[in-house]
This record gives sequence, C-alpha cells and structure tokens, in this order.
Amino acid sequence: MTDIPASASVLIVGGGPCGLTLAIELGRRGISTVLVDAKEGTAFNPQANATQARTMEHFRRLGFADEIRALGLPPHHPTDIAYYVCFGPAGTSQVELVQVAGARWAIEECFQTAKNEAGLDQYQVRSWRAWHAHITLAMLAAAYLAATRAREAEKGDLAAVVTG
Ligand SMILES: Cc1cc2nc3c(=O)[nH]c(=O)nc-3n(C[C@H](O)[C@H](O)[C@H](O)COP(=O)(O)OP(=O)(O)OC[C@H]3O[C@@H](n4cnc5c(N)ncnc54)[C@H](O)[C@@H]3O)c2cc1C
Repeated sequence: MTDIPASASVLIVGGGPCGLTLAIELGRRGISTVLVDAKEGTAFNPQANATQARTMEHFRRLGFADEIRALGLPPHHPTDIAYYVCFGPAGTSQVELVQVAGARWAIEECFQTAKNEAGLDQYQVRSWRAWHAHITLAMLAAAYLAATRAREAEKGDLAAVVTG
C-alpha cells in the first residue's frame, strides 16, 4: 500500500472514473487530495468498451484524449458492423434471421415513441406490482395513440391528429 500523506484538503473515496477525474480537477485547481480505494489495483474486468463524445471532450480538456483513443479500435476499423447471436430452429433460413434481426429497429422505435408519448420510462422501480401496472398502462396508451393515428391516416386526416 502507498503511504498516505498526513494531510490533504479532500479525501476521495473510490478510484473509479468519478474519483480519478475529481482528483485531477481538484489537483489542477491547487487543492490537495488523497484518493483511497477498497481495491489494491485497477478493476480486473473492463468496465467500459466505448467512450462517448462528451466524455472524450473532457478527456481532451484534461489532456489524455489521444492516449485513450490510441487504446481503442484502430481508426480504420468499421464500427457499423453488427453481430448477432441467434437462437432458432435448425432449419431457419438466413433471410429469416436477417428479417428478425432487422425488426429490432422497429421495436426500438416503438419503445422510443412510447417513452415520448406515453411516459413508458417515467417510473421508479420500487415494486413489481407498480412497475407492471405502469408499463401495462403506458403500453395501452401508446397502442391507443398508434391505432388512433392509423385510423386518422386512413381517413386522410393525419395532420389534425399530429397538430392536436
Ligand atoms: C461491464 C460494464 C461495462 C460498461 N461499459 C461502459 C461503456 O462502454 N461506456 C461507459 O461509459 N460506461 C460503461 N460502464 C459504466 C462505467 O464503468 C461506470 O459508469 C463507471 O465506472 C462509474 O464510475 P464511478 O467512478 O462512479 O464508479 P466505479 O467505477 O464503480 O468506481 C467506484 C470505486 O469505488 C471503490 N469503492 C467502493 N466502495 C468503497 C469503499 N467503501 N471504500 C473505498 N473504495 C470504495 C470501488 O472499488 C471502485 O473502484 C460499464 C460498466 C460495466 C460494469
């Protein structure tokens, strides 16, 4: 174990990304810190495989974005290739597998619409019953809106529904 300084202005408990960033930020402002962690080394399992743009902005500001980028996939590596693990009957055709995999986007769009329009994600998971009731009602509301919209579209009156 490293010797701990006798005094410091701030004690940071936890050397994950938050603790480490805090130590750097405070250090740059001339505030002394001591950072302690329950673990003796770094995490034994990776806890991130992607770093989003906003985080990279912070890394750039702090001066080690290039170092982090160099540890990632090479710049020419395509990141728009999707891999799927599929489970299905042995005779399932490739076309069918691709259709099922492609359905993911429509499903995700449904989730997004239900979140935006019916508050699907506006809950706090405190009990199974409450969560189940909320999700069921939100999905029912989303289904009602979708059916109403489809009916109005059939009548050629979609603009009235969209603008409310
Ligand atoms: C499998 C996995 C994959 C992930 N992939 C991504 C990804 O691709 N991109 C991304 O942005 N995020 C990813 N995350 C999330 C990311 O790892 C966390 O958001 C981030 O680590 C949180 O940082 P933190 O500093 O808040 O907490 P942590 O990283 O959990 O750090 C907390 C630290 O506090 C220490 N500690 C806890 N209690 C005590 C105590 N009592 N005394 C002393 N020390 C203590 C722990 O040992 C630990 O080192 C992933 C997480 C996991 C688990």
